Amino acid sequence: MSKEKILVSACLLGEPVRYDGKAMPNEAVIALGERFELIAVCPECLGGLPTPRTPSEIDESSGCLRVVARDGQDRTDAFLAGAEACVSIAREKGCKLAILKSNSPSCGSGQIYDGTFSGGLIAGNGVTTRLLTSAGVCVISENDVESGFPAVKFDDLRRL
Ligand code: SF4
Repeated sequence: MSKEKILVSACLLGEPVRYDGKAMPNEAVIALGERFELIAVCPECLGGLPTPRTPSEIDESSGCLRVVARDGQDRTDAFLAGAEACVSIAREKGCKLAILKSNSPSCGSGQIYDGTFSGGLIAGNGVTTRLLTSAGVCVISENDVESGFPAVKFDDLRRL
């Protein structure tokens, strides 16, 4: 029987795609590769942004979704394009679950950087998390994996 497929932030799998050109490999997530097929995606790369790149954060102070780079450039279109690409990949591969990097303006779930580039966090979801959730994909973070989410939930995947 083929393995269930899970969409995963590429940086968590060790790919050096972060804004600073580094990776953030997470052993608990990587270990899931023994039981599941992990589909690596980096929404910001899929949206056409280079690596390394100026970091961006979500700024919704105007009431609209905007993603702004630290140098002031509007990156909203690239973030949306990357998020849409991830939704297409999830649909094509049949992924019901995504494990995405915490706090990121693309991948964060539950909390994200607050738009001030000070390291502060606010409640909210990254752009890709929002679109995947709207498309019916359950999004969790590497922190959820480390705290034992998979023990129950991953076994439920086959029944979703
Ligand atoms: Fe990792 Fe997501 Fe940032 Fe890409 S966009 S580097 S996958 S957190």
